[in-house]
Amino acid sequence: MKKKNHCGGKKEEMGAGDELLRSGIIRQRQQDRVIARFRSLAGNLTAAQLRALADLAEKYGRGSVHLTTRQGVEISGVAMDKAAQLAKEARERGLLAGACGPRVRTVVACPGREVCPYGLVNSRQLAEELDREFFGREVGIKVKIAVSGCPNSCAKPQENDIGLMGAVEPVLRAEKCHGCGLCATLCPRGAIKMKEGKPHLNRRLCMGEGSCIAICPAGAWEERRRGLYLFAGGQVGSSPRLGRVVVPFVTEEEATAAVEAVLKTFLQLRREGERLGDTLQRVGLREFRRKVGWTSSAGQRKVGERSHEEV
Ligand code: SF4
Ligand code: SF4
Repeated sequence: MKKKNHCGGKKEEMGAGDELLRSGIIRQRQQDRVIARFRSLAGNLTAAQLRALADLAEKYGRGSVHLTTRQGVEISGVAMDKAAQLAKEARERGLLAGACGPRVRTVVACPGREVCPYGLVNSRQLAEELDREFFGREVGIKVKIAVSGCPNSCAKPQENDIGLMGAVEPVLRAEKCHGCGLCATLCPRGAIKMKEGKPHLNRRLCMGEGSCIAICPAGAWEERRRGLYLFAGGQVGSSPRLGRVVVPFVTEEEATAAVEAVLKTFLQLRREGERLGDTLQRVGLREFRRKVGWTSSAGQRKVGERSHEEV
């Protein structure tokens, strides 16, 4: 029998039905108490939302909140018979109910290029767009999405059913290179080796941080293209696995459509009870990619062509 957590991947037996789950109300260990779960939008809460949370925690909860790993906030210790009133007040004060059940969950994100010095893409903006498009969509099983602005992966895209990670693809202008070796020394992945006085990039090892572009004193490394890797099939929990690169490079503008293509493929192929990673494993990466059939306009490179996709 499949294990379920307090939020489950399926409808819960709380007695109040799916309507309460949709309001972010989930059961608590203590029979007469429930937890009210709220979500942020791409990891951000406004000052007004924070004030509302503080007020509701004092009025209905225990005067404190719990921060979830998916950038949400929970008020626990709420009396069961007060849950509906809390949910109503929360809605009126602009709080977003957290997701539970067999649907697309909160899209989490790092701050990205907007403020982070390492950011390569605007992960916050993209996560908000994905949230608008996919949050709460009924898909028969939980689907988690995350967006990171660069390969540091602060939002852990590889641990989500669908994850996006900002990256750049470097290209060498060999005529500019004077062979100092700095790029090879400082590449965090060891993807560059010096051979006969010139740097050689192993694209299988390169994760697209762009450090070579940033540090080359001669400007010999240039940006060929910028976009996002799309991972699929990641999950944590009792059977953790990292997502695989299903689409090597999409532009920020294409990302939502690419996620839609992956989700659609999953729903076409999935068998009862499977998370995306289960389906991907059963079908095989190559076949899954073929079914997704995504061709990025970013550099006109196709899925399956040798590049970063073998990461
Ligand atoms: S993943 Fe990159 S862009 Fe996002 S917060 Fe971390 S370092 Fe910054
Ligand atoms: S840092 Fe620039 S100049 Fe130095 S080896 Fe690398 S590409 Fe050539």
